[in-house]
Amino acid sequence: MGDAASVASPSLVIQTSFLGDVVLTTPLLSYLAERGPVDVVTTPSGGALLEGHPAVRRVFRYDKRGAQQGFGGLRALAETLRHESYGAAYLAQGSWRSAALVWMARIPKRVGFDTSGGAMLYSERVTFRRDWHHAERLYRLAADDPQVAPPTPSLFPRDVDRTAVTTLLATAPFDAGSTPYICIAPGSVWATKRWPDFAQLIDALPTRFGIVVVGGAEDREPAQAIVAVAPGRVLDATGQLSLLASAEMIRRASGIVTNDSLPQHLASAMGTATVTIYGPTLPAFGFGPLAPRHAIIEHAPGLECRPCSAHGPQRCPRGHFKCMREITPASVAASLRPLLVD
Ligand code: SF4
Repeated sequence: MGDAASVASPSLVIQTSFLGDVVLTTPLLSYLAERGPVDVVTTPSGGALLEGHPAVRRVFRYDKRGAQQGFGGLRALAETLRHESYGAAYLAQGSWRSAALVWMARIPKRVGFDTSGGAMLYSERVTFRRDWHHAERLYRLAADDPQVAPPTPSLFPRDVDRTAVTTLLATAPFDAGSTPYICIAPGSVWATKRWPDFAQLIDALPTRFGIVVVGGAEDREPAQAIVAVAPGRVLDATGQLSLLASAEMIRRASGIVTNDSLPQHLASAMGTATVTIYGPTLPAFGFGPLAPRHAIIEHAPGLECRPCSAHGPQRCPRGHFKCMREITPASVAASLRPLLVD
């Protein structure tokens, strides 16, 4: 296991996975930052999420599928990193490409999981504990005191994000100055991770709350279906906020209902009460909610096809999609109610 305390020179963390993984890497970043400067290689959107994070000295935005794709882009970035004199690299993302990057950058200590595709190029391999939350797995790439629990993930919306949220809330059909609200996040990159009944949930939620639908521009269609149910109560914020502004919108909410997707991790970082709806995946995979108040909704035991993949396929292989279709709006609302504060 890595001993970051003995590292005098800067550390580098490689995290080019999904945005949720970037959020779950922040406890590791905070740990390392207590011991020296920390730089991060991440995707362009991951970089946007880490802007202003006090644990991070510098972000290298690696557009591995765009402008920097291919070996030329990898070599150029490795060359840049080589001049930074890092003492250690932590591979929060385990591909061959990431391993080759830090090896080509001649970083002497390269720590990652023993299950990673690029593990052969690491100087230290840490056991990938399937029974741990992924935030803890990542944290313990460097932290080796089992008595110390990892901190919760963290994000730091900036003034510009706060202003954007205040401006958008001023357009809500409810009085955002006096009415608490619940965030609804109907999206996911993976189609079978999307619970299909968010629109039916609205009428089951306590009427003293307004509703704000959060997500990207690609979530506009389900958002419009939700607005159509209660236009006087729902603000559609999809596609209108940056990632950090979305985190700020979630921070101000009394609670959020989300799929097993990025908004759940934003809520974990902002401490917002969370109900996560699981379909083809399981909380036991290690990516569940970490907010102090949270609940998990999933199909009753006995659905033998579940789980059917690590991420959730784009279509239900069985065609019935029971893992999601048999979750009722009433059960989701009942799980959220005890978590809510005005
Ligand atoms: S096969 Fe089962 S677990 Fe997978 S999407 Fe279909 S219903 Fe859900």
